[in-house]
Amino acid sequence: MANPNAYYKLSGKTPTTAIPVTLSVGTLSAAVLGFAYAVIIYYMPFVYINALCTIAFGIGLGFVGAFMVNLTKIRNPMIAGLLGLLIGLFAEYAQFVAWLLPVSEWNDTVFMPGELWAVLKEVNKVGVWGFSSTPVKGMFLWIIWMIEALIIIGASVGIPYLGVVNDVFCERCDAWADDQTTIGPFKPIANPQQMKQDLEDARIVVLADLEPADDETQFSLITLTRCNLCNELFVMTLQNVKVTYDKEGKPSTDETDVIRNLLIDQATHETILTLADAHAEESDDAGTPDDDIDLTPTA
Ligand SMILES: [Zn+2]
Repeated sequence: MANPNAYYKLSGKTPTTAIPVTLSVGTLSAAVLGFAYAVIIYYMPFVYINALCTIAFGIGLGFVGAFMVNLTKIRNPMIAGLLGLLIGLFAEYAQFVAWLLPVSEWNDTVFMPGELWAVLKEVNKVGVWGFSSTPVKGMFLWIIWMIEALIIIGASVGIPYLGVVNDVFCERCDAWADDQTTIGPFKPIANPQQMKQDLEDARIVVLADLEPADDETQFSLITLTRCNLCNELFVMTLQNVKVTYDKEGKPSTDETDVIRNLLIDQATHETILTLADAHAEESDDAGTPDDDIDLTPTA
């Protein structure tokens, strides 16, 4: 059985000032970016570029949220996601308020949400579409607006949420543990259950059996995270990684945790780093054909 104490866990803490500070910066950014976005969307005649703008707007907001969550030391992913949701909803509101400006030929817009909704319903009946001669309207426009909202709000929520989930915070130092080293690639872990058990039982010697990867589409990676302020918090994650290519040759990576956020001690941390060096030398000596596979730890 897994010992729950053997794993790093987020404390779930949120400093009191973090919420108003994150919300203020987030909504201000949403207003500024939303205005720019709405104007570009209105005047841009290329639908494909419009779609890219929507994604960029969502990702931009997500990164602002994640940055603020990190800066204000929010260690609760639910709070991070909820703040992202509020920022995303505000961004939706702001971009529609801004969008009505060019729609009304820079004469007017509305700020009250109820009024805004009523105006949007009217605009939807008539349809507006920049330079296009046949306006998009009705159900089709509602669907476009819905997809747009899903992208913007989804990215606003998801990026800060994942940022907190994937980071390690040192409560002792009141700081994020930023010192991360990736080691590998190694051959995939054939028996993840066994490996997990071995590592939980501190039999790290099993890692010495890992061999350098010989397949660029299937391998495993070790990630070591250390708090370099106190040098007392060490966390290890081991993942199997699969790279698949779609018809157009675009790669996508699928990572499966063999073990995630296992707390280790300093000696183990050093040992794993030594293993990485040993493997690096080994593969140098052997002169492996995969010259592009680098086994040296990257700081
Ligand atoms: Zn620390």
